Amino acid sequence: MTRIALLGATGSIGRQALEIISAHPELELVAAASGSQPIDGLAPVTQVGGDLTELLERSQPEVVLNAVVGFAGLPATLWALEHGVTLALANKESLVAAGELALDAQQRGAGLLLPVDSEHSAAFQCLEGRSAEQVHSLVLTGSGGPFRGRTRDELEDATPEEALAHPTWRMGPKITVDSATLANKGLELIEAHFLFGLPYEQIEVVLQPTSVVHALVRFRDGASLAHLGYPDMRVPISFALTYPERAATPVESLDFSQGLMLEFEPPDLETFPLLGLARRAGEQGGTYPCAFNAANEVAVAAFLEGRLPFLGIAATVDEVLAEVDGSPARDLEELVEADREARRLAERAAV
Ligand code: NAD
Ligand code: MG
Repeated sequence: MTRIALLGATGSIGRQALEIISAHPELELVAAASGSQPIDGLAPVTQVGGDLTELLERSQPEVVLNAVVGFAGLPATLWALEHGVTLALANKESLVAAGELALDAQQRGAGLLLPVDSEHSAAFQCLEGRSAEQVHSLVLTGSGGPFRGRTRDELEDATPEEALAHPTWRMGPKITVDSATLANKGLELIEAHFLFGLPYEQIEVVLQPTSVVHALVRFRDGASLAHLGYPDMRVPISFALTYPERAATPVESLDFSQGLMLEFEPPDLETFPLLGLARRAGEQGGTYPCAFNAANEVAVAAFLEGRLPFLGIAATVDEVLAEVDGSPARDLEELVEADREARRLAERAAV
């Protein structure tokens, strides 16, 4: 039996995780949490809002699936890493904002960190068992979102409804908007840097509009390994929850009987500046990635509430990154302060 705590149980990832857990008698849901919706009876221990580390202390899970959205997932990420409890991580924002602190905690706890983000689950599988010196580079794929191929002018009046119409994935609203701006690929670039210890110049982003190729790793001998499959988050969720067993899922594997075309194209960094801003924030290091994430969270919320135009999301993040000092956080308190400062600047900029 594997004792699982599911954080963010009412969300898109959370609901798919519940499906996987209920299909496997050896997976036991011992705790569940949501941000605001009631979840009484879903698990022996449940919690709505508040400090999620209390729930983890009470339930003592073997695996924490962190599917909370945003910086709010950070305490749970650090708790799991510090305690050496396997962390199945969907909540990329926590690793982006607190990469160094998270890796320090993981070193002390010596537990497993298994990515649930589809690209990172794919890359993890392509990289597994191979030494760093064999790796030439990692290629993260993205669909390009609903606005792929548009020009800046065409995006001036883009509405939340249009941004929420993702072509290949059904996800929560925040990550769906991030996919439309390419901020999601930016967060994933930083996430990959911390997960796999690769410098930014060894991580490339390419668009693959049907989301069938989830990631590729190029090796020094000229070979590339890719991870393919229909876009369905139950695959990476199941991979992490049943690691290293790779349990069966209800997802069909690829069918070539009707043919299958795979197309790749470079991202348009001028129309979608958040990808470049994320790369620069990652390269600058310190608390720049934390500020990138915080400003983006504030700007996305403002966009979804109709207070900020679509192009204002990138403009807000750009402005905040130019204003923060970005010096490294020595501890969680300093990181939380950097997050708070970036949010304050973003609220002021997002008008
Ligand atoms: P969602 O909005 O559908 O669900 C978010 C969940 O987090 C909900 O259960 C909500 O109640 C909970 N939550 C929000 N704030 C909270 C708080 N302060 N404390 C406790 N719980 C809180 O989001 P989602 O699409 O499921 O995404 C969750 C995470 O997984 C995000 O970090 C996202 O980037 C990542 N992710 C999602 C997908 C996907 O397909 N949905 C794919 C890759 C990565
Ligand atoms: Mg992803």
